[in-house]
Amino acid sequence: MNVRTQSRVRSRVIVVGNGMVGSRFVDDLLQRDGDSFEITVLGAEEYEPYNRVLLSDVVAGRADVATITLPSQQAAHTAVRRGAAVVGIDRDARCVMTDDGSLHPYDALVLATGSAARVPDVPGLAPLPGGVHALRTLDDAREIVAASMNARSAVVVGGGVLGVEAALGLARRGVPVTLVHGADALMERQLDDGAGGVLAGELAGLGVTCRTGARPSQVLVGDEDGRVSGVRLDGRTNAPGEIVDADLVVLACGTVPETQIAAQAGLAVERGVVVGHDLSTDDPQIFAIGDCAQPPEGSQGLVAEGWDQSRRLAQHLVSLVVRQEPTEAPEARTRSTTGPPRTRPPPRRRGSTCASRAPRAGRAWRRASVRRWSRAPPVTRASPPAERTSSRSRARSRW
Ligand SMILES: Cc1cc2nc3c(=O)[nH]c(=O)nc-3n(C[C@H](O)[C@H](O)[C@H](O)COP(=O)(O)OP(=O)(O)OC[C@H]3O[C@@H](n4cnc5c(N)ncnc54)[C@H](O)[C@@H]3O)c2cc1C
Repeated sequence: MNVRTQSRVRSRVIVVGNGMVGSRFVDDLLQRDGDSFEITVLGAEEYEPYNRVLLSDVVAGRADVATITLPSQQAAHTAVRRGAAVVGIDRDARCVMTDDGSLHPYDALVLATGSAARVPDVPGLAPLPGGVHALRTLDDAREIVAASMNARSAVVVGGGVLGVEAALGLARRGVPVTLVHGADALMERQLDDGAGGVLAGELAGLGVTCRTGARPSQVLVGDEDGRVSGVRLDGRTNAPGEIVDADLVVLACGTVPETQIAAQAGLAVERGVVVGHDLSTDDPQIFAIGDCAQPPEGSQGLVAEGWDQSRRLAQHLVSLVVRQEPTEAPEARTRSTTGPPRTRPPPRRRGSTCASRAPRAGRAWRRASVRRWSRAPPVTRASPPAERTSSRSRARSRW
């Protein structure tokens, strides 16, 4: 180990979310500069990162958990904590808190919290009764598979790509499925009416009954067991009050970006966490990528977009690294007038979480943060806030 490495002060990067984009971001950063960062990944799920796109194959029995697991990061200065949900961000102290109460200071915070399944506002769905599932996580897929073992019949709500895949997966397991879709044709974003009709015909041959032009008006729950027993339909194509029996219901009604911790921290949030072209939020120390982000160009909720953001952000953070000489005194660096203006931490707010729980450490982190980013140019935005807002209508998810 050389002297420079021993004395290097690494910038602390916290990544919140160990999903398809968060895990890719760590790879991207390590590939570009494995030595300048101390990376901590905090992921709410208990699992290694996995290919979420293949969850419908798990439901269909075409893939198992082992085959969808993504390579995990094992590198020096990189720690991955699974089953660690971030519950708060203290922007003044620059640290996050996880659900076990532990605190994690950062110089740069990357939010990659993804999105959650949208639960439609239908009577009977709050709280979700037994037998009703979304398909977003590996746990969801496992529960659907387990429920399909004893299910007599299933309803899938939502006839987009994910709904069609889920319906096919259940039919493949021998469960009779009714696919309920509000529009006149399946997958109307991808197919015209004629093609949607052909698809419905093909699905019928595989054990999926399609009910287009119909929406669920109520989810019926058994009095004794609290489990779903059927779905009442409302629409042009069904008899008034018609009920489709089901002891398994899968919701495939789109997604909602996971923005809770960002909103609680006072960051700008619209549909997603608002970011500029450089993927920074309105706090220059905090970035957002993947499904949770709302970039100026809008978002389709596709993984390729998140991977592109991951690559760009890794490049950006590497470009901000402070190249410190080991012999240089901190005072000399911070007094320098030749470099670009250094970033200053915002004034501490009263009652900041990390400060109140660990005041001494909090002060140390703030001093360290000033040192580490002291020569980094301030993060600039390529677009004014007004331009970001105008992208809102395009920021719809396909899933
Ligand atoms: C069944 C299915 C099929 C799909 N098919 C396609 C497809 O064919 N093509 C395509 O492009 N896309 C598809 N998608 C969408 C694709 O999976 C997403 O675009 C992609 O997973 C986004 O990656 P992400 O890392 O932003 O979010 P995610 O992969 O959702 O990861 C986010 C992670 O953050 C964690 N997290 C959230 N909040 C916190 C917190 N507070 N603290 C710690 N961790 C937190 C979550 O637990 C999760 O592990 C599909 C999605 C599903 C569910």
